[in-house]
Order: sequence, then structure tokens, then C-alpha cells
Amino acid sequence: MIVVLKRGATAEDIAVVSEEVRQAGYEPRVIQGVELTVIAAVGDERSQGSLESLTAQDAVQQVIRVQKRYKLASRSTKPEDTVISAAGYQIGGGSFGVMAGPCSVESREQILTLADQMSAAGAIFLRGGAFKPRTSPYEFQGLGQEGLDLLREARERTGLGIITEVLSQRDIELVGDCTDIFQIGTRNAQNYALLTEVAATGKPVLLKRGWASKVEEWILAAEYILVQGNPNVILCERGIRTFETAVRNTLDLGAVALAKRETHLPVVVDPSQGCGRRDLVEPLSLAALAAGADGLLIEVHAHPEQAWSDGPQQITPEQLNHLIGRLDRLCPMFDKQLVRREEPAIL
Ligand code: PEP
Ligand code: MN
Repeated sequence: MIVVLKRGATAEDIAVVSEEVRQAGYEPRVIQGVELTVIAAVGDERSQGSLESLTAQDAVQQVIRVQKRYKLASRSTKPEDTVISAAGYQIGGGSFGVMAGPCSVESREQILTLADQMSAAGAIFLRGGAFKPRTSPYEFQGLGQEGLDLLREARERTGLGIITEVLSQRDIELVGDCTDIFQIGTRNAQNYALLTEVAATGKPVLLKRGWASKVEEWILAAEYILVQGNPNVILCERGIRTFETAVRNTLDLGAVALAKRETHLPVVVDPSQGCGRRDLVEPLSLAALAAGADGLLIEVHAHPEQAWSDGPQQITPEQLNHLIGRLDRLCPMFDKQLVRREEPAIL
């Protein structure tokens, strides 16, 4: 960190601030310029305390951070891509995988039929919420335990991996007994107590970006999981809140390209929450591949007009089929290989 002193700082000010820097565990190096004096605080600012509170001192003008705040997630710490293994499938590296299914698990008939269709289309994970974080308490909250049992049945039937959301610490064991990947939703993206406990299970975690999170905050949230010794983190861009109202959220594909550069973690894109409109899911999915994403999380429903949640943004199984066909052809152009299930679904 660099501590910039105010114009006219005295020798005594320099000595006092230098001592504070030393007390915080850094080695102070005083650099006296023509106009300003700065104190370079030498040390690892990712593991030592911040010096930002020094700005409260009269003699200090500014404290500037020189290192990134995340280290375990950083590509400079680990240059090679992290490849995560879940339910026998690899996520990250040179592979591109599709996770697809309804917004919510609604019934046995719905999820089992859809699971067969997702598997036949070439998805490798079945998504579906059993615990739904709804903006209004009067909206469908998910089938809970029953939904988890149905997802388990769908996995046994098709061999698809399962990804489903965990909303609270209370449900970690319950959801963990069923799922291959924990989904942490946008509303819990900075719920550090939840992230810490989910991380402790050692299972893969798909961490959505908070709808008002900066990229740095998103990566630091991932750092909360990594610091628990769980390396299995998948970042997921799902759109952020902006001034734009033509779409539900603004899908930030720039953040995807940036996260791929800044971190070694796999990054997937959820174009469904990302735009809120079925007709934009395919173009945004293709753009996600081009931006460097390692996969997609897509909402699919056999009858979107009857869906219990997020109807307007769910595509049909036929549309998923079409999309996966295009991805399959395009993947090699972006040095990726579409991961597919090897055996056909048991129907
Ligand atoms: C979802 O995937 O259905 C969902 C609720 O996502 P998000 O947390 O991104 O809103
Ligand atoms: Mn949804």
C-alpha cells in the first residue's frame, strides 16, 4: 500500500505515520518527492490489515492499494484453469457444458419428462429449484424436500448431474444429500456465513454474481469459499441491475471475459435470469461462449406459459435442442469441446 501524506507534512508526521505502518505489520519506506511525501508500506496487503484507516490522520491525504484483494482466486496465484469434477463431468479447462432444466421443480411428471429431454438434447446437469428465493412471499416458494426427492429420482433415471439452490444454512445437509453442485443465488451472493458453511461440505459451489455486485466483490465472495479449503467454485454471471428496463437484467459479458482473465475458476453464464426473455436466450448463449464462458445454466420448461415461476424466460426443450446443436458446431472455433453424456438416456 502507498500512504500519500498531505502537502507540508512535517518530519514528525512522517515519523508518526511510519510507526503506524510498522505497527500494522508493514515495512515503511519513505519517499520524499518535490511536492509530496509518500510512505510505501512493504508487505502482503492481502494477508495483513488494511492501512485505509490511516486516512483518518490529519497528515494523510490518501491510502492507495497496490495489490488485488483476492489471492486464492487469482490467476497470478494459479495460472492454469481450475477444472472441477462433479457427477463424473468436468467443468472448466477446454470443456463447455450445459446445465438445463426448469426454474422450479413443479411435479414428478414435469421434472422426469424434462430430465429425459435435457439428457437427449445434450445437457449434462439438470437444474431446478426446490427452494425458491421469490421477491414476494406470496409467490411459489418451491416444493422443498419433495422437490429434492424428485431431482434425485431424475438423476437415477437419466445419469444427469444435479444442480439446485440452497437458500439457508439450515438446509445445507438436506440439499447436499441430493445435489452434485450447490447453487448460491444472486440474493445470497454475499451471505458470507452461508458461503462459509456450504464451502465446508467440500462439494462444488456455483456462485451467482449478486445483481449489484462489482466483479471484485463477486470474486471476493468466491474467495470466502476457497479460503475454507474448497477449491470447487464455479462463477456464474446472471445479469446485473442497471438503468435499462427493456430486459430483466443486463447480462454483463464483459465481466465474464474479465473473470476469465482475473481468475482461474470456471465461469458459466445464466442467460435466462440474464435477460428475462426467451427470444434472447439463444443469442446471449452464443455470445457467452464467444466471451470465454465454460458453460451455461439455462431455464427450460415444456410449457413456459404454465410455469410456476419465471415463465417468460424459459425456453422449450426443442429450442434447447436447437441451441445445443449450434453450440456443438461453434465450440471448436473457441477451443472448446461440448461435453455430452456418453450413454443415451434410459427412457
Ligand atoms: C434461478 O436460477 O432460478 C434463480 C433464482 O437465479 P438468481 O439467483 O440468479 O436470481
Ligand atoms: Mn428462475
